[in-house]
Amino acid sequence: MTDSTFAKLGLAERLLRALKDARYDTPTPIQRRAIPLLLDGYDLLGIAQTGTGKTAAFTLPLLQNLDADTAEEGIEAGPRETRALILAPTRELALQISESVETYGRHLSLRQAVIMGGVSQRPQIEALRRGVDILVATPGRLLDLVDQRHVDLSECDYLIIDEADRMLDMGFIRDVRKIAAMLPEERQTLLFSATMPAEIAKLAREILYEPERVEIAAKSVAVERIEQHVHHISRAAKCDRLIELLAAPELSKVIVFTRTKRGADRVARQLAKARIGAEALHGNKSQNARQRTLDRFRSGRLRVLVATDIAARGLDVDDVTHVVNYDLPNEPECYVHRIGRTARAGAAGSAISFCGRDELPHLRAIERLIKRSLTVVGEAPPADPAAKTRKPARRRPSSGGRKRRRRSRRPQRRAA
Ligand code: AMP
Repeated sequence: MTDSTFAKLGLAERLLRALKDARYDTPTPIQRRAIPLLLDGYDLLGIAQTGTGKTAAFTLPLLQNLDADTAEEGIEAGPRETRALILAPTRELALQISESVETYGRHLSLRQAVIMGGVSQRPQIEALRRGVDILVATPGRLLDLVDQRHVDLSECDYLIIDEADRMLDMGFIRDVRKIAAMLPEERQTLLFSATMPAEIAKLAREILYEPERVEIAAKSVAVERIEQHVHHISRAAKCDRLIELLAAPELSKVIVFTRTKRGADRVARQLAKARIGAEALHGNKSQNARQRTLDRFRSGRLRVLVATDIAARGLDVDDVTHVVNYDLPNEPECYVHRIGRTARAGAAGSAISFCGRDELPHLRAIERLIKRSLTVVGEAPPADPAAKTRKPARRRPSSGGRKRRRRSRRPQRRAA
């Protein structure tokens, strides 16, 4: 087993000590593959979702590289500068990353700050005044503070973009491009995404320099361990069915996904009426309210969290017993993200989906993606109206022959 210990990956003693404190003894596959490459200074395209250990995979080498830059080259952040920037699509994810930086960097003396919308900017400006080593930020607030000249990215040597596909869904891609253009060209850049839509592949080609690619098939790993049921049911009957299901005590820590914020509020209200402890989590709530709800859910004081996809994205909550898809997502990858909230860290999990007649095409797309059929509970599905008219898939034109964009760059640092 010694081959897979963190020490073998080239991590420094002070980081190993922090990992020991956190009781991590074996690196996850993405950590095993990414850490040595990142310590060697390569750019990285990481295709991996939350739950794979990707945060430690990028945070550990970043901390080590920053520490070495200070020790070997005397590099320090000037006023309002940051030496590394980690971009996250949501406030929750930014906070989780910041906690990881704190945990893994506890024996180093690097300074970090978090900036995100939804809370007062004053303490964030204060934290930036003397400069920081690591800045974790959501794109919108970061651009605001750059415009107000509270942040200077011109000396930032490391850029990490987490959950790039979610950035795309949330309309942040232009902001991300704009931010990347503010950094020096000579830098180390990492981009992580659970899926690789064409727009993200394009962004990766633009901002990464000859990246190494690490892909972790969390999809098949997670999905196979999860029991997956589908109830064919009318929209009107969904709420009663959910309440019936929640009569079973084994549904003790449940995330219910709805398509809309209003839907989340409505379901949470109905459950509360039925005396089931439930709260909604979505982007219209204040940051403090979201954090409170999450803390209560994490600690087990709240049984049911009713969430939209964006709010739940990147949530790291242990021992979720069941995920309920109150509405089916129209992107099949999203189903995989959702059900990945259960069955974390090797545990078994259970996912229950409600499928209305109008959602049948979504169900078929999901089943095609995960290459298996969900187990039907109760009524059989109605005939799929789209089945007869579906056209055969068109073959994609080959994308071969595309020219690589090159840019000047200093030689790789710390090359092996
Ligand atoms: P992430 O994919 O970064 O969201 O990480 C998922 C969870 O796995 C987090 O709770 C981490 O603290 C945990 N984790 C990450 N790496 C390891 C490891 N090597 N051993 C044990 N737990 C880990």
